[in-house]
Amino acid sequence: MKIAVCPGSFDPVTYGHLDIIRRAAGLFDQVIVAVSVNVDKKSSFTQEERVSLIRQCIADLPNVRVDVVHGLLADYVRQEGACAIVKGLRAVSDFEYEFQMALANKKLNPEAETLFLTTDQKYMYLSSSIVRQIAGFGGDISDFVPPQIAQFVMARFYQPKERESEPNDSK
Ligand code: ADP
Repeated sequence: MKIAVCPGSFDPVTYGHLDIIRRAAGLFDQVIVAVSVNVDKKSSFTQEERVSLIRQCIADLPNVRVDVVHGLLADYVRQEGACAIVKGLRAVSDFEYEFQMALANKKLNPEAETLFLTTDQKYMYLSSSIVRQIAGFGGDISDFVPPQIAQFVMARFYQPKERESEPNDSK
């Protein structure tokens, strides 16, 4: 049984992440989407919320499950008996960080390989932070996240205010 782990913060999950997860599910017997704590970033959604959002989007993928990672990814991968860490690679900007992480994980767990899937060109520009910014201004996020989670994501970033009456508004 070949198991792969797809790690990330998924804050929130986007069509870009889901494309990588779906493609990994076609290559491995089992895929674990591992929601991690990134010590360098403050999250907009709790770990439980991020897990729940992903679960709502992968219901049609029987060989994919979602879990949380509390400690080191390399230890988690060993503990789950996974042979690979699958990551998505967007433009050049992802490369340096991902290359460093892959080498560090190899050092910590030499039995696991990191595999990179190139992003679908449709999602090259897409990131969780773009979704957060667009949602924050009340923009349309329907091209970025699946419909079943769009409303929940919007509600986190955008509370439309009732239009206050202007001084010249006719009474
Ligand atoms: P992290 O905080 O570890 O960067 P993210 O949730 O931002 O976690 O991303 C998790 C993984 O998903 C990373 O490998 C990232 O490159 C990949 N990913 C994110 N967005 C896309 C996208 N639009 N296309 C392909 N891969 C993506």
